[in-house]
Amino acid sequence: CIQRGNIEQCIHFVQNDRSILKQKGWGGFTPLHYAALHGNRSLVDLFLSTGADPNLTCDAGQTAFHFACQGNIYIIHQMMQYGADLRLIDLQGKTSLHHAVTGGSVAVHYLWETGMFRFSDTDMYKVTPLHLAASTGNTEVVRYLLRQRCAVDAVDQQGATALHVAAERGGVEVCWTLLQRTGCRMLHQKNHSGLTPLDLSKQGKALLYYWTLFFPTLSGAAILLIAAMLGGYGGLTCGLLFPWLARSIFTQYHRMTTYQLPNPVYLGTLLAGMFHSLLCFYGKMMPVWPTSALAQVSLVHFSILLGLFCKVLTQDPGELDRADADPRFSCIADLVENNQSPHRFCPYCELFQPDYTKHCKLCEVCIKDYDHHCLFLNRCVGRGNHRLFLLFILSMVTAHLLFIATATSYLYSKMSAGSSGLSSWLTLFGEEFWVVVMMIMNALTLLWEVWLLTEQFEAVATGTTTYFRQCESSARQRSLGQRWVLVLSFLLEGRRRV
Ligand SMILES: [Zn+2]
Ligand SMILES: [Zn+2]
Repeated sequence: CIQRGNIEQCIHFVQNDRSILKQKGWGGFTPLHYAALHGNRSLVDLFLSTGADPNLTCDAGQTAFHFACQGNIYIIHQMMQYGADLRLIDLQGKTSLHHAVTGGSVAVHYLWETGMFRFSDTDMYKVTPLHLAASTGNTEVVRYLLRQRCAVDAVDQQGATALHVAAERGGVEVCWTLLQRTGCRMLHQKNHSGLTPLDLSKQGKALLYYWTLFFPTLSGAAILLIAAMLGGYGGLTCGLLFPWLARSIFTQYHRMTTYQLPNPVYLGTLLAGMFHSLLCFYGKMMPVWPTSALAQVSLVHFSILLGLFCKVLTQDPGELDRADADPRFSCIADLVENNQSPHRFCPYCELFQPDYTKHCKLCEVCIKDYDHHCLFLNRCVGRGNHRLFLLFILSMVTAHLLFIATATSYLYSKMSAGSSGLSSWLTLFGEEFWVVVMMIMNALTLLWEVWLLTEQFEAVATGTTTYFRQCESSARQRSLGQRWVLVLSFLLEGRRRV
């Protein structure tokens, strides 16, 4: 009732039996803990006025007042009126002031006004309120604490300052605020493991990179496991959770906000698709795989696909270096005298770009015959890997067709003979949601890849790339046959004929 905010029902329960206010549920929480956690002022009022004790502790030794400090100042005030003990600390030695750091600087300031707290108070791991504010990334509280309240160079049990904590979490704004206060000397201070804030930031970066990379695979697996546990409702669970997952992936920025790295979540999505499709193909649809001819053909094809995938991820996309730069220009004056666009000079690489070269801001290099930056490979497609990219997409298309054909025949074999109504289809979807979900995803990706290939072939047939095709509006008129000859010769020889 508290979680739903149902006040009438809560009044009813309390009037029936007041001892309910002392009962502890999950984690040792009393009703007052829950009301404080939800920041529900009316419920806190109700419980306190009917005799709830704000000093009862939960399993972690935290009182309802500790929870109240994480939010609303009115609830903090109410509990103090009803005798909340400000001296109580939880099992980690955290005071109410530590808890108030999460609530914001108004809550912290209110507690400080009581005269019961010192900003130098630490918990049993020597963590100060400033450390906590740095770890939650709350710049406002950090600024508040830095105004002659907290020692900026206080170290915790591991020898870490607040800057170490913020650097590890990638809190750019907090790091900047702390550095403005201390100067750059803090950057070189080592914790007990001998690591500076800079080292920790690199570690945090790598951790975040791999976490984001594997997030789609792991959350996809989690959804499938939840669906498997729910039995007949598995199909419905997948139908709700997979669109949610897709939304949370495809609304992300191309750069991660914390460390400004190119976001690897799209590459992670491609990895997840491959991993789950292969698992479903060999684990679910073909448990007797070595015997069937289709399985052997698929094994050869998937090996080729994975080989191409590794190659396209590692091969140089055609990075422009000094030797390849346009030989006609050696200084800006050459550009001006030849009446060329100033954009021929890349200010990031400081090179003069030949035709069809573009700087990629995500890869931070100039790419010859720039086609596009592929988010799903997290790298550029250009002269060095354009043909390889097209071969990879073609082999993906084949793999999707193979998967969809096998899944269709698998589902067909699972359909009980004679039943073909809507309800039997729904039952089948509920039971075989794994195969159905993977089939839908393969089909959607296939549609997208077919569109991608038509765009690509169109560009190759006009002797350019998809990026520069948009710049050159005067499309050369060629017959359909000629276009196909150009596309095929590009795929076979890798040469572009303009
Ligand atoms: Zn450049
Ligand atoms: Zn790029």
